Amino acid sequence: MERRIDFSRARQMLCGRCDHRWRVDLDWIDRWEQAKETCPGCGMTCEHEDSPRVTLDSHDPALDDDRVAQFSWYHTSTQADWPTRHFDPAAVLTPETRRMMGGEQRVAAWAARQRAKALHIGTYEAAVHNMLRRIRDQADQRSQFYLYRVRLKPSVVVREGWLVDPSK
Ligand SMILES: [Zn+2]
Repeated sequence: MERRIDFSRARQMLCGRCDHRWRVDLDWIDRWEQAKETCPGCGMTCEHEDSPRVTLDSHDPALDDDRVAQFSWYHTSTQADWPTRHFDPAAVLTPETRRMMGGEQRVAAWAARQRAKALHIGTYEAAVHNMLRRIRDQADQRSQFYLYRVRLKPSVVVREGWLVDPSK
């Protein structure tokens, strides 16, 4: 099942200081990022560490564990053969980098986090946003990107409830 694709749908905001929740549109977020808007609850601007951030919408049908496998999910990657079964993010690290990272145990933990990130799937909009962010912020300005559409097996095991992604 495809969800309706809407890049400008309203976002749910949550303030880290006063717990105020409210809905905004993308123009608001744009002004917010330029410190032209404040939290309606406590007046905080975007510069603070615990300032309001986009959070999940509890009415989002994708949060319904029983429906997760019915939706199509997306992933953007610079890998032409994603998801590779034997993906080793540490393969490109030189012995010196491995030493600087604090030794093999640290490298293994880092590689596990990278592997988990590489298997992240989301909405079409999130996948495209992620690609644009990588092009903007990271070393992927000249990279070729691939868009993957993922169908989960009906037997997929979904973690109960949901988590707020700290990186968002
Ligand atoms: Zn607030």
